[in-house]
Amino acid sequence: MSFASKVVIVTGASSGIGAATAVLFTKESADVVIVGRNESKLKNVADKCALSGNTPFVINADVSNDDDAKRIVNETIDKFGKIDVLVNNAGLFHAGSIIENNILEAYDKVMAVNLRAVVHLTAVAAPHIIKTKGNIVNVSSNAGKTHSLPEFIAYNVSKAALDHFTRGAALELASSGVRVNGVSPGPVKTDFIENNAMADVSWDKMAPLVPLKRVSEPEEIAELILYLASEKAKGVTGSDFICDNGGLL
Ligand code: NDP
Repeated sequence: MSFASKVVIVTGASSGIGAATAVLFTKESADVVIVGRNESKLKNVADKCALSGNTPFVINADVSNDDDAKRIVNETIDKFGKIDVLVNNAGLFHAGSIIENNILEAYDKVMAVNLRAVVHLTAVAAPHIIKTKGNIVNVSSNAGKTHSLPEFIAYNVSKAALDHFTRGAALELASSGVRVNGVSPGPVKTDFIENNAMADVSWDKMAPLVPLKRVSEPEEIAELILYLASEKAKGVTGSDFICDNGGLL
C-alpha cells in the first residue's frame, strides 16, 4: 500500500494513535506532516519516523486556534505544494456534569478540539484536497455511539457530532472526488489517560469489560486509518469503522 509522493497531515501526532499513524504512513513512503503542541514528544515521534526512512515535517500548533489551523495548511503547501490526506486525530477529554454545574466548561473545551477544529481544518484544507482528489479520516470513538460514565457526556457528544460531520462532509465533498471517513476505537493504550488527568481509570481495568477482553494498541487503529486513506478504500466514504474489541456489543 504505497503512499510514495503522497502528502499526509496527521494532527495529534505527538503521542498515541496519531504517533502510530505517522510512523505507519512514513513506512509506506508518504511525506508526513506531524502536528501537536508538545515539542519534545513531537521530536520523539519525528525520530521514530526517521528510523522508518523519512523525517516528517513538524508543525507545532494548537488545532483549536484558528490562525494555527490556517498555518498548518499554509506551511504544508509551502513545503510540499499539495495535500493528499488529512487525518483529524487530535482529541481530548474533559469531565463535566449537568448536576455538578461544570458541563459548559467541559463542553466548550472538548468541542473546541474534538469538533470545531476538525470542521475548521477540513474547510481550510478542502480546496487543496479537492485538487489531489485525496481524502480525510476523522478519529472518533465508540463513545460517540453510547454513554458510559455520566462525566463523559461532553466527550461523548463531541464524538457523536463528529460522526455526523464526517457523513455531511462526505456527502458535500463526494462531487469533488474527495472521500471522508471515520474510525471509532474503543479503549486504546495511549497517553490519553495521562494527558487528560483521568482519575480512577486504567487500561488494565478496561480490558475485562469488553467481549474480547483486551485493549487495542495504537498501531491497530493506524492500520485502519491507512486502509481508509488508501486506494483500496476507493468506494468507501461517509463510513465509520469501529475497532473496539466488541465493546459496543
Ligand atoms: P493521546 O492523548 O495519546 O493523543 C492525543 C493527541 O492529540 C496528542 O498528540 C495531543 O498532542 C493532541 N492534541 C490534543 N489537543 C490538541 C490541540 N489543541 N492541538 C493540537 N493537538 C492536540 O490520545 P490518543 O492517541 O488515544 O487520542 C487520539 C484520538 O483518538 C483522540 O481524538 C481520541 O479522542 C481518540 N480516541 C482514543 C481512545 C483511547 O482509548 N485512547 C478511544 C477512542 C478514541 P499535544 O499534547 O502535543 O498537543
